[in-house]
Amino acid sequence: MSNVTRRNFMIAAGVAGVTGVVSYRLLTAKESQKAPASPPKKVVVLGGGAGGAIAAKYLRRLDPTIEVTLIEQNKNYYTCFMSNEVLSAEKSIDDIKFGYDGLSQYGIKMVYDRATGIDPVNKKVSLQDGTTLYYDRLVVSPGIAFKWGTIEGYDESVIDKIPHAWKAGSQTVILRQQLEAMNDGGTVIIAVPPKPFRCPPGPYERASQIAHYLKHHKPKSKILIFDSNQAFSKQALFTQGWEKLYGFGTDNSMIEWIPLEDGGNVVGLDAANKTIRAGEFEDEHTADVINLIPPQTAGKIAIDSGLANDSGWCPVNQKTFESSLHQDIHLIGDACIAGKMPKSAHAANSQAKVCAIAIVSALQGKEMPTPSYGNTCYSIVGKDFAVSVAAVYHLDGDTIKPVKGAAGPSPLDASAKDRKREVAYAQSWFKNITQEMFN
Ligand SMILES: Cc1cc2nc3c(=O)[nH]c(=O)nc-3n(C[C@H](O)[C@H](O)[C@H](O)COP(=O)(O)OP(=O)(O)OC[C@H]3O[C@@H](n4cnc5c(N)ncnc54)[C@H](O)[C@@H]3O)c2cc1C
Repeated sequence: MSNVTRRNFMIAAGVAGVTGVVSYRLLTAKESQKAPASPPKKVVVLGGGAGGAIAAKYLRRLDPTIEVTLIEQNKNYYTCFMSNEVLSAEKSIDDIKFGYDGLSQYGIKMVYDRATGIDPVNKKVSLQDGTTLYYDRLVVSPGIAFKWGTIEGYDESVIDKIPHAWKAGSQTVILRQQLEAMNDGGTVIIAVPPKPFRCPPGPYERASQIAHYLKHHKPKSKILIFDSNQAFSKQALFTQGWEKLYGFGTDNSMIEWIPLEDGGNVVGLDAANKTIRAGEFEDEHTADVINLIPPQTAGKIAIDSGLANDSGWCPVNQKTFESSLHQDIHLIGDACIAGKMPKSAHAANSQAKVCAIAIVSALQGKEMPTPSYGNTCYSIVGKDFAVSVAAVYHLDGDTIKPVKGAAGPSPLDASAKDRKREVAYAQSWFKNITQEMFN
């Protein structure tokens, strides 16, 4: 890898800047199709989501002498991002469905199977079909798993009736169908787990999108958000949007938010009677539609392979994303502990690029430049009304922290024109990130 330009590494990291001794040229799809060296260095990427798909692509675009294999259990990926818009019917389920054919142009080897085990000593991954894949470096981006058993009565056997819809696809469709079937005047409960969880603003965007649908089709209905937390992401902006669009704070509010100290933590479920128990006194609340989002951990394969610590998430060197527990294995995306970065697709995308640079540097015996990282998260609150939060991050010691003055939410009291413009930005962000993942 020669032809080093500062701009190309900045593109690779997808962020504001970088300092260091080495940088890299990003190859075109045609250039990256080159056959790997013989014998090649082998990188296996586990999980073809927001982190894994990008890591695989950028590894090949940085160094086509590396053989890159991407393991993904599903032929199609349904983005969680914009899945709340499927609940309001602003998007269809097909709008958030993607396939991996486009990645072949980078010479990535696709393996559609479920990884069942990682052997960090012999550096191999076992697949459900009995195959074994050996690696020099492994990137693990498996997303999240649910902590079943933490809410009494809620487990996988009842998710067709009480959907979580926190992994998009069939669960999203079930929740949408339940909302469609509900009578005007019905009650929807959304239960938010304790932090940390995938997409911190996601439950509140979900409440907003459901309210957007109900306002136009079932205006006598109510949404109760039972929250295991005392505060939430972009709270002031959401509150302002809800006041403007859904009467929040008035007797006729379509949305009610019940924080932890008011009994917002859901502790039990009677699925048959669509009743939850919440708060210290386990008060019962019955609803027509219940969306229980369970507490979360790193994806199962990461837990089963000893890559997580007691927190249920995976500690990493936050410069290289190499596991703190097992050598030559890198973890990115929701599963890893990435300092102050949230668990978002944009964060996973940024981490994937930094991780690709780290691996290429290591395999080429070069010193890795100092990275920076980025995140932006849009939430569409209702018609012509979106809000966002953005941040640039850097390494402060060994921890990823926001760069002061380069982070923040969109302004309160913004004009209607600005809020509408943010809707267009949100759509454009979605188009760009999915284009980059799958093409
Ligand atoms: C409702 C909602 C809205 C959201 N909105 C936004 C948003 O607006 N902006 C944003 O930035 N983020 C958003 N997110 C968060 C975003 O979806 C996640 O942070 C992101 O997908 C994390 O990427 P990942 O690579 O860690 O995991 P994923 O994208 O979930 O990818 C993991 C992949 O690994 C595969 N996999 C797992 N285990 C195995 C195995 N054993 N074998 C083979 N394959 C395996 C899975 O099938 C999956 O394809 C939202 C999330 C939700 C739930």
